Amino acid sequence: MHEALTSIPCRREIIRAHKESGGRVAAVLPIHYPRALFRAFQILPVELWGPPEIDPQYSKAHLQPYVCPLVHNALSYITGPESEVFDLVAVPHTCDSLQGLCSILTDLILPRQPVFPIYLPRGRRESDAQFLANEFHALYRKLEALTSLSPSEDEVMACILREEDADEVLAELNRKRKFLPLCQRDFYHLLRSREYLPAERFCELAKSFLAKAENESRDKGLPIILSGIVPEPMSLFEFIERAGGVVVADDLACCGRRLYGPGEDNDVFRRMAKSILSAPPDSTRGSSIQERADHMVRMVKMSGAKAVLFYCMKFCEPELFGHPPLRDELNKINIPTLVIESELSEASLNPSVGSLELFLETILCG
Ligand code: SF4
Repeated sequence: MHEALTSIPCRREIIRAHKESGGRVAAVLPIHYPRALFRAFQILPVELWGPPEIDPQYSKAHLQPYVCPLVHNALSYITGPESEVFDLVAVPHTCDSLQGLCSILTDLILPRQPVFPIYLPRGRRESDAQFLANEFHALYRKLEALTSLSPSEDEVMACILREEDADEVLAELNRKRKFLPLCQRDFYHLLRSREYLPAERFCELAKSFLAKAENESRDKGLPIILSGIVPEPMSLFEFIERAGGVVVADDLACCGRRLYGPGEDNDVFRRMAKSILSAPPDSTRGSSIQERADHMVRMVKMSGAKAVLFYCMKFCEPELFGHPPLRDELNKINIPTLVIESELSEASLNPSVGSLELFLETILCG
């Protein structure tokens, strides 16, 4: 790992430091939520994408085996001793599986912490923005009751502007990825530190790497686009690199699909809502297949990618439904695709390595 990255505090340290300063910490499930609103209440949002290395035995007693591993792991984690550090749990209505998890946590297995659902619209119309703004306003009231704080509009706006700065820096990292002195795994380690670092810490860290950007591209290998929910286990990037590939752009729910633009509205709730709806197309926000296909074709053209790897979470319905038509659209422009199934663990990735190597080798030799 790059020396400067080893200095990034781990989640546990960040959580401890935030709590020692008197703040609260929220465990937030994927994918879209208003970071700034939590920060306005001195709550640090820390995202749970699983987590990967959790024994899902407990969840098996409560969830069907055909629910995705991310939700299985999340239930086991939230109901286990390690989640004691969290003061609340937020569950965006990303998909039926997360909605099911939220119902279990609010009706059946009540964790120590309060659980707040966040409902998301499935479109980008004006009415969708207003719906989401109202949802954030309702969340404000719940956080107000929990914390006894009532941040003013100016205070919420200051938090929004800080997150918008971090979003801009995140976008800049993506634009300059091939000039940064980082291997693929380290680059994604840096991007994904946005999942738990306070925005200001993330900005500082990311800018230190942007300052080291070189003039020449460091990309070596077959350029590919990575699509999916979350690149876990992160050793995936080492396998891609060893097989001769390099990820030049992504359509990952935890990364590329969260390149939010500024909200452009003076009302704080509408501004946060519009920012989220400005993100690239996403199966979990109800984007049409055509929107997603157009976006992927654009990414292929802009990045020069020669192939697309769909790294799909097992039993992830929002993603699985889209694969056949998306692959058809990419085949029309002669972009080969491969689907690999993920269960978050190292053990689940190993059997797929051979097909990944064969896939990239065939294109490289073709
Ligand atoms: S991986 Fe798919 S099914 Fe699982 S929580 Fe994420 S979007 Fe939902």
